[in-house]
Order: sequence, then structure tokens, then C-alpha cells
Amino acid sequence: MLSAYWLLVGRLVSIDSLQQVSIKNSEALLTRNDPDLTLIADSLHSTFFTHKVIKQQTLSEVFQLYGLNPDDLLAMIKANPQAIQLREGQVIEWQQDELGRILELAIHRNATLSSSYLRQGTQFVFQPTVTQGTLKSLVRHGYIRRNFYQAARQAGLNNVQIQTVANALYWFVDVTQPDVIGDQFAVELQQPWVGQHPMASGKIAAIWFKHHGKNIQLVRFSDDKFYDMDGVSVEKSLNRWPFTQTFPVSSPFDPHRLNPVTQHYAPHYGTDFATPVGTPVVATGDGVVMKVGRHTLAGKFVVLQNGRRFSTHFFHLSQILVNQGDFVKRGQVIALTGNSGRSTGPHLHYELRQHGQPIDAMQAPLPQRVVLTKQQKIVFDQQAHHSMSLLQTYLKLPISLN
Ligand SMILES: [Zn+2]
Repeated sequence: MLSAYWLLVGRLVSIDSLQQVSIKNSEALLTRNDPDLTLIADSLHSTFFTHKVIKQQTLSEVFQLYGLNPDDLLAMIKANPQAIQLREGQVIEWQQDELGRILELAIHRNATLSSSYLRQGTQFVFQPTVTQGTLKSLVRHGYIRRNFYQAARQAGLNNVQIQTVANALYWFVDVTQPDVIGDQFAVELQQPWVGQHPMASGKIAAIWFKHHGKNIQLVRFSDDKFYDMDGVSVEKSLNRWPFTQTFPVSSPFDPHRLNPVTQHYAPHYGTDFATPVGTPVVATGDGVVMKVGRHTLAGKFVVLQNGRRFSTHFFHLSQILVNQGDFVKRGQVIALTGNSGRSTGPHLHYELRQHGQPIDAMQAPLPQRVVLTKQQKIVFDQQAHHSMSLLQTYLKLPISLN
């Protein structure tokens, strides 16, 4: 195998540079399992070559590796000084004539942008080209034996893809619960390819989750949001105000506020509304009651979890109308305002947190439930039909339990 290796490299590296390498490095430039060697082997019978850039590799290193003429490199840099900037994972393709001269070299910078260098005599002409890489559909499917995460990993999904699936399904099924054991899923991944190479691990395009025999089907539309088969976004709306009427803001969200009671600087992570005691407080979004209780500072309080991203917090209440674990709908009355805890007068302290971080509930962009228009729905239906037909074939397969 060793002789074959030298033969392979010998085809591409001139004898001089090969000798240099073997003198300078007692170790071979490439090992048998090196992916670069496979690329070289693939290119043997063609004058087209391909190289996938590894971490911190420069274009001149690539030139050295393949025994390309450094003068050509200089001519390319002259044509475009940015030529030498490479990133891990980028793909370089080039064509050589029988004398080993580069005729054309293209660097695929991402799925749609390539730089190409075309020989003209001893010079190169630089052309940035925007090419549409092809999208390839892949299906990953699995049967949940122990937990969703393990099944998804086994199916070949990475952590980002698993998180995306879990988030999209959140309002239909909580995949982190043991309740999903015995469920099946199939997801469509769309991977951008340029030439023979995937440029990314792929985006989740569609999800089919069979939960206790119930079908949950979601498709990602051109706006990047997931929709159910009726064309309704899985993302639910969050209202700005926790009342059905308006009340004045007595103290806004202010991370640097002077506390009116203690006279110390203390962050105010909520918005205070001056309201008469007994004013109905409504949930700003669908959710689950995470906690109800009583606290020295917050008084009687309610905390709602509104989907995976948001939680809402209501303090200084006089009466709580929900219990921990209850599901609540947006607009549902959950409590009555009061003056409990540390408070200078009747008011509601309303706090919005995103991934646990308090944000200004009066300013932050809030998620909106979207219903596709008739026109959009026509496009969506075609896409959904295509995706679901693809996924269905995988879900029909009998499950092997070994
Ligand atoms: Zn407050």
C-alpha cells in the first residue's frame, strides 16, 4: 500500500518537491486514511482536482500539497488579493492541462458564492460568481426506545438539528418527556451541495412525528418558520400587555434603577403598572403555570412558561386563580392585582424573560402567530405534499426492535 501511496502522490507532486518532502519530513505528507488522499485518488484519472480546506490551511499550502506552480498562485493573488483567504470546509476545484498548469481554479466559499480564476496566458482573470448550489433532500428517521435525544443522535441528527426539532414540536409534544417512548419520527434535511461536496450539515425542512399514533406534521416555509398542515405557524403569539384595558406604567424596565423603597440602586427587571387592587391579570401567551407562591419581596406571584423561549412573571398579586401545572391560554385571567410583598402602592410587576434573561416587555420584539395567506398556502401545500410523501415511506417501514 505504501508504494501505491507514493505513486498517488508522485502523480501530483513533482519529483523535486517530493524529494524535498521526504528529506524534510521523515513522516509522509499524507496518511492512508487522510481524506485528502481519498480526494487525490478520486481525481487520479481526471484532470479535475478537488480539495477540501482543513483548519488554518492557506492557499499556498494547498499549492504545495498538490505540487502546483507557485507562479500561478502569485498571478491569482495579483488578480485578487483576497485569493489567499481560506476557511475550513471550503472546497477548491481546479483543472490542469497535461503539463500540470492550472487552467481554471474555483474556490467555493459557501453554497452560493464562488471565486474563480481563469488562465489567460501567464495571468489569471478573477471572476466572483454567484452560483446556486443544489439542495439535496435527506431523510433521517428513528424509533424512540429510551429517549428522543438518543434516537435522534442514532438517526444521524446533530445537536442543532435536534434542538430545532424539539423547539418546533414544543406545542404539540414535549420530546424531553418519557411519554415519547415508542414514538417514531422522520425528518427531511436539506443540504446545500456544490459539486460533489455538502457545504453544511443541513437544515430541517420538514418533520413528521408519530406520537402515540397521532400524526404531527410540520413544514418549514420560505420565511424559515415551521407551519402545521393548515398553514398556521407553530410559534404562538405573545401579547405586550397583561390586561384587557390600559393602565399607566408607574415604573419601567430599568436595569439601573434607584429603588424607591430602599433608596439603593437596584435593577428593575419588570414593568410596573399602577392598577386598582383586584384588576384581572391575563396571560400574555399560551403556557404552563410553572410556579405559584408567596415571597417577601414579590408577594403573591405567578410564573408562566410560554413555550421554550419565554417565561412571564407576575408579582404583588392579591389573588391567584391558577395552580401549578395548569395549562393556560393567551388572554385567560390568571390572577387579580394587589399590593402584596414589598410594594409602595397597588400595582402589578410584570416581567418577561427570554431563555431566563429579563428583557423589556414593552420594547422587545414579540413572537407572532402567523397564518399563511391564500397565495402562500398554494405554494406551501405543494412543498408540504412533496415533503410528506417523502417522509411517509420511512414511517411505513416496520419497526425492528433489536
Ligand atoms: Zn416592579
